[in-house]
Order: sequence, then structure tokens, then C-alpha cells
Amino acid sequence: MKDIMLKSLGWEKFVSKFHEDLKMAMVPYKNMVLEKARIDKIINKTSAHREKAQWIYPSDHCVNHSNKGACFCAMTNQAIFERIQRGKYKVL
Ligand SMILES: [Zn+2]
Repeated sequence: MKDIMLKSLGWEKFVSKFHEDLKMAMVPYKNMVLEKARIDKIINKTSAHREKAQWIYPSDHCVNHSNKGACFCAMTNQAIFERIQRGKYKVL
């Protein structure tokens, strides 16, 4: 599904739209290490784009990790998470 979005819409633009929402949602969890499932729950509870939570991947917003089509913040000081290990992220 992600690959289809990459080709048709431009994934980077698409994920970047959610960056601010995600950042706001994570403010109360600063410096905490969270599992992906927990992050998903937080997004679902707080994001204005709740129905789009399925498109928000912490791995697209990491200071020490990037992938094809990641958010503009990946590998920069704008990043929201530090990737600790697969599925575990520290909130920056
Ligand atoms: Zn981002």
C-alpha cells in the first residue's frame, strides 16, 4: 500500500502533511521510549487526522533513520523520534 502511494502521490509530501500533528501529539511524551503500538494509540487519540493515522509511521520522522519517502524531518534536527530499535522510538 505504501508503495502505491509513493508512485501516485509523492509519499514525501504526503507524510510531511502529518508532521506537525504528530509533533504536537508527542509533546507530552518527550524523552520517553515508546513502542510503535503505543505511538499508534496516541496518534489515534489526539491527532486531528485520526482517520489518517494508518499513514503515520514513526520511522518516517527519525533523527537517525531514513527510508525512501521519509518526511522532510528525517535525519535532521526537526525529527520527532530517535529510533532505538525496530518498533521502538524515543520522543525527542
Ligand atoms: Zn516529520
